[in-house]
Amino acid sequence: MSLNWQFTDKARFKKLTKEEKEQNDCFVWAALFLDIRDITEKNATEWVWRWTFGNKLNGPYFYRMKDGVAGEPFVPTLAEVKKRIGFTTNVSTRTRRQFIDKAVRIFNETQRFEKQWAEEAAKECDCPSDKDGIKWHAEGCKAAQPELPLE
Ligand SMILES: [Zn+2]
Repeated sequence: MSLNWQFTDKARFKKLTKEEKEQNDCFVWAALFLDIRDITEKNATEWVWRWTFGNKLNGPYFYRMKDGVAGEPFVPTLAEVKKRIGFTTNVSTRTRRQFIDKAVRIFNETQRFEKQWAEEAAKECDCPSDKDGIKWHAEGCKAAQPELPLE
């Protein structure tokens, strides 16, 4: 199924700046990630809530672009979401509970993958282990577990 979207409120869409129109791509994909079909007055806070939650749990979906270079992670403010009321897609809206379950499932899968990857990689490097069997990787060793970004 292809991902379709449109603005039912053309007047509002025309008010968006060039940069805001470019950000619309993020909203199209975010609809899919966040399991919300459209942006309305009523669900605008839910957009921000889910976007924030998903980013905190699984890392940034998007970055703010400046002169073609990625900067800060992009999590829209409520005002930025509300500017796009009338935006609609063919994504199916799911409940917050269903969205959280999906986000947690992705988190768990990522953790499992990273652990497995680190274990596999640890077998392959020549860094020394101490008496407890804990490997101490040399600086720059590719087998070292990547650090999770913590805020
Ligand atoms: Zn190593």
